[in-house]
Amino acid sequence: MSDKASIGVTGLAVMGRNLARNLARHGHTVAVHNRSEQRTRDLVEQFGAEGEFRPTYSAREFVDALERPRQVVIMVQAGAPTDAVIEEFAPLLETGDVIVDAGNAHFADTRRREAALRERGLHFVGTGVSGGEEGALHGPSIMPGGSVASYESLGPLLEDISAKVEGAPCCTHVGPDGAGHFVKMVHNGIEYADMQLIAESFDLLRGALGYEPAQIAEVFRTWNTGRLDSYLIEITEQVLAHTDAATGKPFVDVVADQAEQKGTGRWTVQIGLDLGIPISGIAEATFARSLSGHADLRAAARGLAGPARTRLSGAEAERFARDVEQALYASKVVAYAQGFNQIQAGSAEYGWNVDLGAVASIWRGGCIIRAKFLDDIRAAYAAEPNLPTLLTSGEFRKAVEHGQDAWRSVVSTATRLGIPTPGFSTALAYYDALRAERLPAALVQGQRDYFGAHTYRRVDREGTFHTEWATEERRERET
Ligand code: NAP
Repeated sequence: MSDKASIGVTGLAVMGRNLARNLARHGHTVAVHNRSEQRTRDLVEQFGAEGEFRPTYSAREFVDALERPRQVVIMVQAGAPTDAVIEEFAPLLETGDVIVDAGNAHFADTRRREAALRERGLHFVGTGVSGGEEGALHGPSIMPGGSVASYESLGPLLEDISAKVEGAPCCTHVGPDGAGHFVKMVHNGIEYADMQLIAESFDLLRGALGYEPAQIAEVFRTWNTGRLDSYLIEITEQVLAHTDAATGKPFVDVVADQAEQKGTGRWTVQIGLDLGIPISGIAEATFARSLSGHADLRAAARGLAGPARTRLSGAEAERFARDVEQALYASKVVAYAQGFNQIQAGSAEYGWNVDLGAVASIWRGGCIIRAKFLDDIRAAYAAEPNLPTLLTSGEFRKAVEHGQDAWRSVVSTATRLGIPTPGFSTALAYYDALRAERLPAALVQGQRDYFGAHTYRRVDREGTFHTEWATEERRERET
């Protein structure tokens, strides 16, 4: 057996270190390297007993420690540091070797890097890795892009260390060049939407019913035994049940209510706009975080008038928690439907041929949005690969239609009581807009033609038309 390593990891901060350990624990010999040597020494000192590591202290030594084709996993900060590390290693590699960027790169950067390295005879694999540091160690969801040839050598290793659901690895070859990072980006966008919807559910139960966080934790615990069974619901229950040791107050009440919205969530919204795909659930979740962070703006507006009534009572109160569950489920279907449509659009735009069912399948375990629900999405795309939207698929359609009265009731209650539910509201608006016979976009087209001669199409005739609005007698002409 070769004394060389089958794979190498450079960048040994929390993610790289845990990926390297995961590989070693699965019996693979792993060359390890980091810009500052201490991290390499620490890894081998603390975890050397877990498997076969080859510590190396220069790029040359690292490359020489690898069997061919060499597989170099880069796990450093996204952006310029990733380019710097690629430039350090690429000149030392040979035709057919594989560079894997497992950081959170923008897919456009991945496309650029892949094309440049392909010219130099190297495979470049932009890979999404989800599940945080625990996932990296115990089994993440892995979303590799890049060439089919690179997956032949790399795939078995990645599948080996990925999470497993019913024996199936949460790793698949997503598609060429930037497909893996694109899918990881949308995963994170969906994560934003899911978290926002869960947070709104908490806010509604507290605001409309006056429940304490510990009581709401109980509600989430029950939800987690049904169709909402997921990692995010599970951790929400834990967070809400947690008491702050210093004050004895519910933990959630001592945390500053200002969230961040940088990185992949923001990219998802930007790319959604570029592709013209309405991902309003993800966008509202991103803007909700942004709004929360505007402390001065919120302070200035705090005293603005709201509704007189702030709590529910009687029969309405009794069924409210059940209704919120229905609204959460329906809004979640919308958010996922939008995210999958964005992947579909990206795949068409860049010629990736992404299998949406396979994406749902590898998100079932290891990643932050892992959920029972994803198995239903996998099944929906397996039955109908070109499904226009999850909302029209058998079981989802039935569940959303069945829950729509509760969904509407929750959104109207929230409006009545002045509880902000941007996620629930935009999801319902999307549902109603999609199913509408006619949209007021017709009027918008009229306005655009009036002030800018932008032209319009008609429902009864082919062609493009403009009305001469300025003349006394308005005349329509074909353009
Ligand atoms: P990080 O804090 O993003 O990056 C630190 C690592 O990058 C260190 O090894 C550092 O080396 C190296 N580095 C930075 N600039 C460098 C340069 N110019 N040349 C060479 N090395 C350089 O680490 P992380 O949190 O482990 O994340 C790694 C990647 O995984 C990132 O792209 C991140 O977005 C992604 N990711 C993170 C998570 C998470 O939960 N943390 C989850 C999914 C994906 P030194 O030790 O020498 O400073």
